[in-house]
Amino acid sequence: MVLALGDCRLARPSAEGVESPQGRVEATPFPAGKTTPSEDPFAARRQEMVEKLKRQGISNPEVLRAMGAVPRHLFVLPKYVDLAYENMALPIGYGQSISQPYIVAWMTELADLKPGDRVLEIGTGSGYQAAVLAELGYVEVYTVEIIPALAESAQEHLQAAGYTEVVAKQADGYYGWEEYAPFDAIIVTAAPDHLPRPLLKQLKDGGRMIIPIGAPGAYQSLWKFVYEGGELQGENVGDVRFVPFTGGGQRGVGGYEWPLP
Ligand code: SAH
Repeated sequence: MVLALGDCRLARPSAEGVESPQGRVEATPFPAGKTTPSEDPFAARRQEMVEKLKRQGISNPEVLRAMGAVPRHLFVLPKYVDLAYENMALPIGYGQSISQPYIVAWMTELADLKPGDRVLEIGTGSGYQAAVLAELGYVEVYTVEIIPALAESAQEHLQAAGYTEVVAKQADGYYGWEEYAPFDAIIVTAAPDHLPRPLLKQLKDGGRMIIPIGAPGAYQSLWKFVYEGGELQGENVGDVRFVPFTGGGQRGVGGYEWPLP
C-alpha cells in the first residue's frame, strides 16, 4: 500500500490505510490539549493547517475552530509527530491509519451537527475524529473500534488530550451502539461495500449518516444519507480512500444491499 505524502487535493482526498509495524501507540511527551497557543509549540503549524483547510473549501466556523484546537500530534505515532499537521493520513499500527485532516473536517462539516446532538463514530482508530467532534463542545460523542489495542490506545490519546467526555468501546461497529441509540449523526471512518442496516436503524428521524461505501483497495464514494419521515435520501459527495470495514461489514456477512441511486 502507498502512503500519500503530498498535500492531497480536494478532488481526490485520500485517507488510505498503510501498512506499518505492529505495536502499541505510545503517548508523546508534548503538551496535552486545550492549551493556550503560547504554551503549545505546534500552534503555528496547526493554524497553517486550518488556513489550508479553508482554501480547500471547509467553511463551517465551528469545525475550523475545532480543527485549530485539537492537538493532532497527540494522536499520531511518536515517529510521525513532525508530520502531524500535514494534510496526510499516517499509519497508526495494525494496518490502520489516522485520516487526513481534510477528510476529518469535511466529514464533520457534512454531519450538520447542532447543539445537543448525539453522534456515533464507527472506527475510532487514533481517536482524532472523536476528539474533533468533542472539541466542538456541543455534541455528545460515542465511538466504537474493533481492534482492541487501538481502542485502548485511542482512550489514552483522548485522556492525554483532555477529551475525557468521549464515550468509547471496543466492539464491531457494524452493529452500532444500541444502548445509546438513536443518534442524530453517524460518521463511519472505514469503508464497507454496502450500507449497514443496523446503523441505519440507529438513526433518529432527521438523522445523518456520513459513510464511505465501496470495494476495498480502490477509491470509494463518500455518501451523505439523511433519514427523514421514513425516507432515506443519499447524496454521493465525492471520492475518498478508506481502510476496509471489517467484522459484520465484510462482504456477504449479514449485509444490507441498499439500492444506491
Ligand atoms: N477515525 C480514525 C481513523 C479511522 S481508520 C481516526 O480519526 O484516527 C479506520 C478504523 O476503523 C480502524 O481503526 C479500523 O480498525 C476500524 N474499523 C474497521 N472496521 C470496523 C468495525 N467493523 N467496527 C469498528 N471499527 C472498525
